[in-house]
Amino acid sequence: MTTPRNDSSSGLSTRAVWAGAPEHMPEDMTVMPVFHGVTYAYDDMAQWRAVATGERPGHVYSRNTNPTVEIFEGKLRALEGAEASTSFATGMAAVSNTLFALLAPGDRVVSIRDTYGGTNRIFNEFLPRWGVDVVLCQTDDAEAIEREVAAGCALLYLETPTNPTLKVLDLKRLSRAAHTAGAKVVVDNTFATPINQNPLALGADLVLHSATKFLGGHSDAMGGVVCGPEELVRRIFHFREINGASLDAMSAFLLTRGMQTLELRVQRQNASAQRIAEFLAGHAAVEAVHYPGLDSHPGHAVAKSQMRGFGGVLAFDLRGGEAAMEQVVGNLRLAHRAASLGSVGTLVGPPSLTSHVELNAEERAAAGIPEGLVRYSVGIENVDDLIADLAQALAAIG
Ligand SMILES: *Cc1c(COP(=O)(O)O)cnc(C)c1O
Repeated sequence: MTTPRNDSSSGLSTRAVWAGAPEHMPEDMTVMPVFHGVTYAYDDMAQWRAVATGERPGHVYSRNTNPTVEIFEGKLRALEGAEASTSFATGMAAVSNTLFALLAPGDRVVSIRDTYGGTNRIFNEFLPRWGVDVVLCQTDDAEAIEREVAAGCALLYLETPTNPTLKVLDLKRLSRAAHTAGAKVVVDNTFATPINQNPLALGADLVLHSATKFLGGHSDAMGGVVCGPEELVRRIFHFREINGASLDAMSAFLLTRGMQTLELRVQRQNASAQRIAEFLAGHAAVEAVHYPGLDSHPGHAVAKSQMRGFGGVLAFDLRGGEAAMEQVVGNLRLAHRAASLGSVGTLVGPPSLTSHVELNAEERAAAGIPEGLVRYSVGIENVDDLIADLAQALAAIG
């Protein structure tokens, strides 16, 4: 039955609060408890057999399914407008399980040079070992991506905006090219969040997230998720239940709790990031600001056509290069010098110590990531306080 609680035409924040929960919670609770139990017991053999063979709904073992975890999966399904979803222990488990479940030796996969560092390692280090041919294109060269896809591929893997330089890929255009070539399209939507962008509505076959970032939003739980059509998600779920990278109930509870404020947080972060990007773009010590919300950003027009907001992460390059970067990052007071992004607290760091620590300096240069780049993930603090903090950090450059 469709009710305002699970209607996919409800507003995003309505879905973030209500979707995924059963009409009646255990003990009439308003919040789903954390089901720490590993296993489930049955009254008799017939009931056990019916559940185990899938003839009637129920759970068998928490590596496969768990009621607390299902709520998290249901929220993502509703927010991404997907038929099905499955969750993982981390974002990288979502990436690797998706790739390994769908690809086979002899397949060709096309992607971009500046995917997330861990994803890049799967492409460069692990998939080739299993006989998968990997082609990584210049990220901002849509024609090169179309050419490689047309040459034949099983899967096109995209990320937009990219980490950490915020390049924007045209999802409609590239999905069309992939489908013409008979390939499936997977999009990492971590940076945008389902509040700002829904890749499935733009033509992608699967959308995945590191839930560790904006979805959870508090830097206190790790997780990942993939959403898409039943048939594809079932294949990935099957790989995950055997491979074992399942989301645990406590993390699912924390992620679900965080997700209820997702729209509020992301809207605040969108607005603050825009103001901060404009402030930095006008600062004499700053060489370049990478933020899709700026008119000057090469991907601004595409971003405007496919995103509802430009996100809470930006990056900037300093005129003083790596030495200036060290000083500015060191001078900031209202930011954690830390890996990760998407939290209520502002997080700052150079890609060489965060997202792309797995790459060496040459590989980072090849991916277009200068050693003096600062990645700044805007929290929900008062934006005037954040701008004042950036101003004092920049003023103190020697
Ligand atoms: C962090 C991140 C990942 C990996 O997620 P984990 O939860 O850290 O494993 C994947 N993609 C992007 C874009 C990320 O930012």
